[in-house]
Amino acid sequence: MTNRPQLPPEIARRRTFAIISHPDAGKTTLTEKFLLYGGAIQMAGQVRAKGEARRTRSDFMQMEKDRGISVSASAMSFDFDKYRFNLVDTPGHSDFSEDTYRTLTAVDAAVMVIDGAKGVESQTQKLFEVCRLRDLPILTFCNKMDRESRDTFEIIDEIQENLAIDVTPAAWPIGVGREFMGTYDILRDRLELMDRADRNKVAESIKISGLDDPKLAEHVPAHLLEKFLEEIEMAKELLPKLDPESVLNGSMTPIWFGSAINSFGVKELMDGIATYGPEPQVQSASPRNVAPEEPKVAGFVFKVQANMDPKHRDRVAFVRLASGHFERGMKLTHVRTKKIMAVTNPVMFLAADRELAEEAYAGDILGIPNHGQLRIGDTLTEGEAIRVTGIPSFAPELLQTCRAGDPMKAKHLEKALMQFAEEGAAKVFKPTFGSGFIVGVVGALQFEVLASRIEMEYGLPVRFEGSQFTSARWVHGPKDAVEKFADANKQHIAEDNDGDVVYLTRLQWDIDRVERDYPDIKLSATKEMM
Ligand code: GDP
Repeated sequence: MTNRPQLPPEIARRRTFAIISHPDAGKTTLTEKFLLYGGAIQMAGQVRAKGEARRTRSDFMQMEKDRGISVSASAMSFDFDKYRFNLVDTPGHSDFSEDTYRTLTAVDAAVMVIDGAKGVESQTQKLFEVCRLRDLPILTFCNKMDRESRDTFEIIDEIQENLAIDVTPAAWPIGVGREFMGTYDILRDRLELMDRADRNKVAESIKISGLDDPKLAEHVPAHLLEKFLEEIEMAKELLPKLDPESVLNGSMTPIWFGSAINSFGVKELMDGIATYGPEPQVQSASPRNVAPEEPKVAGFVFKVQANMDPKHRDRVAFVRLASGHFERGMKLTHVRTKKIMAVTNPVMFLAADRELAEEAYAGDILGIPNHGQLRIGDTLTEGEAIRVTGIPSFAPELLQTCRAGDPMKAKHLEKALMQFAEEGAAKVFKPTFGSGFIVGVVGALQFEVLASRIEMEYGLPVRFEGSQFTSARWVHGPKDAVEKFADANKQHIAEDNDGDVVYLTRLQWDIDRVERDYPDIKLSATKEMM
């Protein structure tokens, strides 16, 4: 993080981040307000459909059908001040944690939204832990301060305790619940007052000079002021001061308090993202890492979305640019296949619109329409054989056998399943023995979504049935050892959609036995996507 060269201004102004939160904490509302301040949409209310759509399973399916909405929200770009923000959406449902993990490999920071009345909830905790694996910088927004909320110290304590991260207040709330009137901006010594009458109005800010400024008393009623002053004194004593270096290495999070629905505190949070963001970071890759200031383009696919337009079987690969200045029409090398691809119709997602991207810089997210050549984990470069690392595929936790309703349609089914496997929506294993496919997912809901998509997109009714297996492990080792092992364990062997050998079982005991009996063989629950 330190001693990095100064980035070219176009790259230095980019902030690429995701929002992590528990459902209902206010992610959609906050996104809307970001876009509002980013000038990307005129009126808040346009991304609402998405938040609402997530409520029930049938609505969720509807959203899947209505891909336009979820897709335009996959990555959104907007300008704020002199910055370019790229907000990458994380799937909301807890069943899609693997997808979420990969999304988080494409960002440089995360904004953690918590509900002021609820504190750190389960999904926030999970997502936070994923961020922690990569030491991502985290900025915290404590939302819904206009409602009854917990005591400020209690909220901060809970974050520190549950997430083992230092918390430093960037602002301090004044009044709670119905009496909440705004915050004191600690970083800039300002009062920010919330306007309850106009939800889209930017808060009024009043510059003060220190906490003994008489202006405070002019704006804050005596009983609130007294409590606030007491608290802020205590906060100064008990809580760490903001240290940008610790924010960058993920060991400290600044917290803002606000109310997304009232547009309150959002601008301060955006200023925080701009200031502590950080800029596009170095990307781990093999045989060497990629730095954003390198003049040549390198980027990697972190997400594939298929059938955005059901009429065309097209897919969009979402690519995070790790370095360079991309221009439309560029010929890039697809490192996995060593083929050259002319990228002629890349798209960027500006709020609800897809737009042709004429150019992009390190940090940006590009959507590249393709017919299946681009897969998750693929790297594109201007020729050098570099592969981005650290985009894992996890062993699924649930396995079921999938059969076509009509046995004559097995080939069709295979095609459909392979496509979903490449999209990252499921793992598909073809057993050496027996018929059918074994499909693995991390959450049970995915089976239903898959069944419904296969029927909708391929006109193919399918059945999912219990499988005799409960675990899948990738088999690694020298080629002949793997072959020998596969031969001796045929009943347990399958191939994944890349043709890699997988060991299926229902017993942990089996896995332990393999490791004991075959010293050359390693079974693993993850594989790098290449
Ligand atoms: P998501 O599930 O995290 O995307 O949450 P939403 O943005 O859809 O918000 C969930 C609910 O909380 C909605 O009914 C919002 O209107 C409401 N909400 C969001 N922000 C606030 C806020 O600042 N104050 C209050 N009182 N409600 C809010």
